[in-house]
Amino acid sequence: MKIICIGRNYAAHIKELNNDTPAEPVVFLKPDTALLKNNEPFYYPSHSSDVHHEVEVVVRIHKNGKFIAPEFAHKYYDEIGLGVDFTARDVQQRLKEKGLPWEIAKGFNGSAPVSEMVPKSHFTNLQDLHFSLAVNGEVKQKGHTALMLTTIDQMIAYVSQFFQLKTGDLIFTGTPEGVGPVKIGDTLTGYLEGKEMFTFSVK
Ligand code: ZN
Repeated sequence: MKIICIGRNYAAHIKELNNDTPAEPVVFLKPDTALLKNNEPFYYPSHSSDVHHEVEVVVRIHKNGKFIAPEFAHKYYDEIGLGVDFTARDVQQRLKEKGLPWEIAKGFNGSAPVSEMVPKSHFTNLQDLHFSLAVNGEVKQKGHTALMLTTIDQMIAYVSQFFQLKTGDLIFTGTPEGVGPVKIGDTLTGYLEGKEMFTFSVK
């Protein structure tokens, strides 16, 4: 499986990092070794001293497809969950300044914790979901999927032009504002529509 991530998908987050609003979705990948499940701890990577949390709604693909039209995109995913796109911000900044690829800032081991997946039929409108992340019990990020610049169906149409989607692939749909550093000893808890989805520690 692969992990496809959409960057810069919420205007307020673009602003907090002083990035430009992209004309097309920003896309990057994480390897399967980035995945963390079942509230496994996140081990702080040794190559960074400024790892940030980015809480994101995650979509699970359940049907193979490419060049998927937006109006049929909903047929290609059946479950959603919540994840964290851990980002070594110091490393990313250094690479961005040089115009180099970011993979080691985004795709390192354990950089993609995800919750259990929930059938999308549990929700009436995926573009009207509230989600949040608390660090040590204090809410740091609050998101609303209505504020996505590229909707879930649009991003599936977009990325499937380049990458064939396969059952089990995950799509991270972008983070709202409020990203910030984590440190060893922190506990991160994610909520989707008020329900706790994950809680894990940083080691
Ligand atoms: Zn992200």
